[in-house]
Order: sequence, then C-alpha cells, then structure tokens
Amino acid sequence: MAEDLNPFKIAQTQLDKAAEIMKLDKQAHAILREPKRTLIMSIPVRMSNGQTKVFTGFRVRYNDARGPAKGGIRFHPEETLDTVKALSAWMTWKCSLADIPFGGGKGGVICDTKKMNDKEIEAVARGYARALATDMGPEVDIPAPDVYTTPQIMAWILDEYINITRKNEFGAITGKPVELWGSEGRMDSTARGGMFIMREAMKRLKLNPKKSTVAIQGFGNAGRFAYELSDKMLGAKVVAISDSEGGVYDPDGLDLAKLDEAKKRTGSVQNYRSKNAEKITNEKLLELKCDVLIPAAIENQVRGDNADRINCKLLLELANGPVTPEATDTLFEKGIVDLPDFLVNSGGVVGSYYEWVQNITGDYWDTDTFNAKLDKKLTKSFLDTMNVQKEYADKGQKINPRMAAYIIAIDRVAKAMKARGWY
Ligand code: NAD
Repeated sequence: MAEDLNPFKIAQTQLDKAAEIMKLDKQAHAILREPKRTLIMSIPVRMSNGQTKVFTGFRVRYNDARGPAKGGIRFHPEETLDTVKALSAWMTWKCSLADIPFGGGKGGVICDTKKMNDKEIEAVARGYARALATDMGPEVDIPAPDVYTTPQIMAWILDEYINITRKNEFGAITGKPVELWGSEGRMDSTARGGMFIMREAMKRLKLNPKKSTVAIQGFGNAGRFAYELSDKMLGAKVVAISDSEGGVYDPDGLDLAKLDEAKKRTGSVQNYRSKNAEKITNEKLLELKCDVLIPAAIENQVRGDNADRINCKLLLELANGPVTPEATDTLFEKGIVDLPDFLVNSGGVVGSYYEWVQNITGDYWDTDTFNAKLDKKLTKSFLDTMNVQKEYADKGQKINPRMAAYIIAIDRVAKAMKARGWY
C-alpha cells in the first residue's frame, strides 16, 4: 500500500510513536494531537483588473505553553489547512528542541504569487494582517517569511499591524528588512545552523570534512547557502546540486560563481558546464554515492520507494519534511545517520528568536555575535539529541535521531503544560 503522505497525519503519527516510547501522559498526548486554535480567514482583494477576488488564509496556533506561537506565513497555490496544521506542530517541536521561549504556529494563504503583481501581493498581505492583527504580537503570535513570502511582505504586515494597534512593536514579526530592525545574520542562519550540525555530526562519524563529498538538492536560500558554507566554513567538496529543473554532478567539485552564472543565464543550475560535469535528475542526485546528502528543496523526497537506494553516510534534512516516516525506518536500518528537519533547519527560527530579542531589548548585535550565539545553541541541540539517543540505547532500546529529538521537544512542552495546570 502506498504511504499516506497527508502532512498532518504524518505529524500525528510521529507524535504517537514518540508518545509510546517515552510513555507520555495520555492527557498531555491528547492535547498535543490537535492545534490549540485555528483561524480561517477570507481576504477580499480588489485586483488590478478591477474585480474583487476572495483569498482564503489560515493561521494555526498549535501550542503556546512555552511562549508566543512562532512560525512563518506561506503564500502557496496548493496551501491546505492540514499542511498548515502539520507545519505548526513541527514548529512547536522545533522551538522546544532549540529551547527558545516560543510555542509553534504557522500561517498560509492560497494564492499564486507568480500570477500576481506587487500591488496585489501587498493587498493580500495587508488583508492577512488586518484579519490577524488582534491575535498577533510579540507576546502572542509572531509570524515570519516562508515559502513565497519575503522580508518586504513582512514589512507590509508589520505596517498594517502598527496602524491597527498604534504600537511600534517591531518584535511582532521577524524576517524583516534590516532597515526595519531585521537582524544581521538572519539571511543565512538556516543553512549556517545546518552547517554547525554537520560539523558536529561529522566529528562523531569520524569524517574529515576536507576529504568529504556533499550532494545538495535545491539552490534557493537554504541550498545555495548550504553550498557556500559547506565549502567556505567546512572545506567539504560539493559534487552535485539541483533545482526544480534538474541537477548537475561533477566528481571534481562545482564552482559557485559558475553555478550562479548558469542559473542566471539559463534559469537552471543543470546547464552548468565544466570538463567532467554531467546533468543528473533530482532522483539520481538523491541516490549518488557521497558522504553527506542535504535535501534542501521540498518535502517527501526520500520515501519508502527510494530509501533503499540512498547511498550517503550522513543525511541532513535542511528542507522541511524531505524524508517520510517509512524512509526514516529504512535509513536507520541501513545505518545512515538521518538528522531530522526540526533539528537541522532550526537555525532559521533561532535566528528569528535573536531578531525578536534585539527588537524587544533595543540592543542590536553584529553578525559575529549573532553567529557565535547560533553556533552554541545549535551545537547544544545536536548534543542533547545524541545524549537522549544514547540514554535509550543504554536501556536497550534503539531509537533513531528523529525520535530522540521528538522525545526532548515533547517532554519540554508537556512539562510546561503540566506546570500551567493544563492537565
Ligand atoms: P527557496 O524557494 O529559496 O528554494 C527552493 C529551491 O528548491 C529552489 O532552488 C527550487 O528550484 C528547488 N525546488 C523546487 N522544487 C523542486 C523539486 N521538485 N526538486 C528539486 N528542487 C526543487 O526555498 P528555501 O527557503 O531555500 O527553502 C527550502 C526548504 O528549506 C523548504 O522545505 C523550507 O521549508 C525549508 N526551510 C527554509 C528556511 C529558510 O530560512 N529559508 C528555514 C527552515 C526551513
């Protein structure tokens, strides 16, 4: 039978599995299976052709026992409430594992920004802000950019929020332009955080980064910075990279300037040229023999039907949800260390947390300070995860890193709910 890839069902199944292993209190488990609050909004927008079109938007506050809900807003033509619910659950676990004082939330609008002009996108953003204004804020729910939303869109949402509340609360939203008190360092913090995790994991696996090969799926914010930093920060050789059109493989390593040039000139990195470069499909890229595989594009890439052919030693989930539950089990059996998305890409939300801290204290940091704090935080999350995995192994129960990370995250949220008297 084909795997059920409904994201919210996956999120619930992962919670159920962790709950069983850690013997989670049944009442806490019941609370954590569903979002605390779901808002569905309709946003009428006068389009450039003079006609009014009604867009549907969502905001889910999954759990806020440990602090205000935190999570991005996606503008996506195939957005669904279940996707937003799942992502808000994963934000809850991500913030908890990173041990930052936030709960989890997520938002989305069903719209295709590729078919809209800037005025229409701005109108949707402002409409979304008006629908959410009284239910967001630095102590309540703090949105951020996500798929197809930008710092500029965050600036419009903030402006609307300030106009409605009459409060100059810049910490009401993160991922803002630096001119509006966005943070230095936030731009590449997702990939940089992933690199800190890669460095620590390679130490454990006794892999020398300078003698290691890396394959990356995706050449957007996460994938392109992951390329740049694997090379510059760790000295690893990136042998393959891709975008939605396809990928390129060169056993001698790729050159970033030439990749940028191919992308700019032809719209895809697959048209990169060098002596030994060859085009490869995204499927083949995932199956390449390499030391580190970094899926940094979209969800459900490593599944029950291809997990057996994955041929790396370390898999870093920089994208959200790139490895399905069935594939997680197969990779674990094969001895591949698969580090979960809500650990590997948590540099993004930790970066957002640092932006919020700077906004509410009014004390602004330079990039070096930001990166040094990020390193400490991400390294600790990785070590916490490895320690819990070892604790279970010592008790005779083998669990994968995803389960170990879940157990830490769920335990912290459950303890906060208990202390607050929710069960
Ligand atoms: P992006 O839009 O900047 O880039 C996405 C990349 O994926 C592009 O290169 C695109 O061509 C490629 N792509 C799209 N469809 C593809 C397909 N079918 N096969 C292969 N490649 C495909 O997005 P991003 O910000 O880099 O995010 C990538 C992933 O990382 C997403 O899962 C996102 O949720 C996750 N993530 C990003 C951040 C962040 O701060 N940017 C934070 C946390 C998680």
